[in-house]
Amino acid sequence: MRISILSDIHSNYEALVKALSLADQLRTDEIYCLGDIVGYGGSPNECVHLIQKRASKCVIGNHDLAAVDTSHARCFTKHGTVAAEWTHKILTKENLDYLSSLPYTSELELLTLVHANPAKPQDWGYISSLEDALPQFAHFKTPLCFIGHSHIPFVCGEDLKTLYFKKDLRFIINVGSVGQPRDGNPQLSFGILDTETRTYENIRSDYDVASAAQTIIDHGLPRFLADRLFLGV
Ligand code: ZN
Repeated sequence: MRISILSDIHSNYEALVKALSLADQLRTDEIYCLGDIVGYGGSPNECVHLIQKRASKCVIGNHDLAAVDTSHARCFTKHGTVAAEWTHKILTKENLDYLSSLPYTSELELLTLVHANPAKPQDWGYISSLEDALPQFAHFKTPLCFIGHSHIPFVCGEDLKTLYFKKDLRFIINVGSVGQPRDGNPQLSFGILDTETRTYENIRSDYDVASAAQTIIDHGLPRFLADRLFLGV
């Protein structure tokens, strides 16, 4: 089975449509989502609707939670809070209900899905270094754990030396961000896992950044949120 794993879409409909079309072209059987469907971007209803339709598994992200209950946006940046409050107002009841129904983690036979980290999913702590990653391996049972949250793709083996995916070692894999990459590369990012060959590939692709940025501006959201899409920061 080939699984496309998407994270951190952040209401970027243009990037999501492109990622799903690539996933289809690359013979994907299932689509999983690691949360942060909304927040920052200008198309929250469109993105929630499409993820609900296409993703067979999905977990909640901190921006999804903040869209449901804006008191969770208090710790966000100024622009993040503005976007969370706007998202809360514009989301339909059906889409708010879907976001609030999402679990923090989802455990399957081969892999665990969680937005931020498997140890304390509700605290939203980042895994940004090998030191952060090491204690996390005790907090999931499956061979693989897929995460998002930092918007920076990486592969980290349990030996903390193997930074590419191979058989017979446990891994934490960050698939990067579909809708707001922050590794200096503005191309959308997601991952494809082939469970038969046990191979993993990080997919990067151009998409219509100008249109996604214009939607942010048209809705009166902070211009910074549009500008950063061109830079991948
Ligand atoms: Zn995010």
